[in-house]
Amino acid sequence: MRAVARGLSVDVLVVGSGASGLAAALSARRAGARVALVTKGSLQSSNSAKAQGGIQAAVGADDSPELHAGDVWRSSHETADPGLVEALTSEGPAAIHWLEHHGVAFTRQNGGYRLARCGGASRSRLLQVGDRTGHAITTALRSALDVSGATALPGHPLVALRRTENGLVATCRPKSGKEAEVTAGAVVLAAGGRCFREAELRGELSTNHPGATGEVTELALALGALARDLDALQYHPTGGAWPAGVLGYSIPETTRAYGATLLNAARERFVDELAPRDVVADAILRELDEGRGVTAPDGRSAVWLDTTGIARADAELSLPYMLRRYRAAGVDPLAEPVLTRPVLHYQNGGLVIDARGQTTVEGLYACGEIAGGTHGRNRMMGNSLLECVVFGRRAGAAAAEKARS
Ligand SMILES: Cc1cc2nc3c(=O)[nH]c(=O)nc-3n(C[C@H](O)[C@H](O)[C@H](O)COP(=O)(O)OP(=O)(O)OC[C@H]3O[C@@H](n4cnc5c(N)ncnc54)[C@H](O)[C@@H]3O)c2cc1C
Repeated sequence: MRAVARGLSVDVLVVGSGASGLAAALSARRAGARVALVTKGSLQSSNSAKAQGGIQAAVGADDSPELHAGDVWRSSHETADPGLVEALTSEGPAAIHWLEHHGVAFTRQNGGYRLARCGGASRSRLLQVGDRTGHAITTALRSALDVSGATALPGHPLVALRRTENGLVATCRPKSGKEAEVTAGAVVLAAGGRCFREAELRGELSTNHPGATGEVTELALALGALARDLDALQYHPTGGAWPAGVLGYSIPETTRAYGATLLNAARERFVDELAPRDVVADAILRELDEGRGVTAPDGRSAVWLDTTGIARADAELSLPYMLRRYRAAGVDPLAEPVLTRPVLHYQNGGLVIDARGQTTVEGLYACGEIAGGTHGRNRMMGNSLLECVVFGRRAGAAAAEKARS
């Protein structure tokens, strides 16, 4: 790594080092572009690295991209952009193979992928790497970036962006040192969502990393980019509510795929645990609002997630990190239920893009959580990592082509 020389000039600048930014940078490099990637903190710091549950793709024998698309459309309550959904789902299997090519080893069983069924899905199509899928994906893509010839600049938060005749100029402000400018023929915004900041403003818990603060979206809006559904923030249905060591931890939704049930204070079930994410979160919040919750030791109300019915073999194969987190906090989820409540998790909406990741501003591309439309107003679990790979690759290639034109 080297400090940015004032006046660094590249074909493509990528902002953000989560799965979407890494995919975009690799794809732009593959297209022959000179690429720089700037990110706010360390290269590892991102929501992508925290993703656990898995990544969806229609790879099962009983599945198809069309069935996957239908599930996305229904889960979005028919608010998603059909063109983006088609791109997402038709490229799902290819995205998985691309990740495997970069060294991601998805959990396998009986000679095939181990596939789980997630909320809102009509088929089992969630691939996993244990319960640290995002960690595995970002580790593999960072290794590829290391040898790609791209210039990686951690600790370089973007603070300003302006258009010029031939492209864009980005200003970054490292903690120590002078502001640095990067001139680029095209810029890919992959800076993620804003749920960490939003939770702070609301006094709520969030699953997000501290860099999820949304200022890059604001810079794009100031340049004239259009956005959609920015008000549609998603709650993760099952955030850790107690003990203190797991507050805000996103309990993988695969716990419910493997048989965990949601119970109110009277130990009664109140929702189909495999309903779409917003339906489950709303049902929990209704129990809490109507006084059927349990009061956790910090005074917040919660419901039970009864994880004791999960088969030990499933838990050890697909939930090892969750088991470690809880056991370290003094609770064994296979022996007793855990307390949970919805926590702020995901920005459904974002910058308007076309199927190549182009925003409404020439030369400016966006992919991943910062972009809107793919999930409409309600994302299914597992489709965000897929979105990062599919649209990261598309945006990187399109930005490289634009920079050459
Ligand atoms: C705990 C958790 C579990 C999840 N589990 C799953 C799952 O199982 N499956 C799934 O599909 N999705 C899951 N998600 C959602 C998914 O991980 C994210 O939506 C997705 O990875 C976002 O990727 P991204 O590349 O768009 O953004 P991020 O991965 O958040 O990366 C954004 C990057 O931009 C950088 N950045 C921010 N601001 C600036 C700035 N001003 N200048 C420079 N850089 C900046 C950040 O530092 C970071 O590197 C989960 C999310 C969380 C938080």
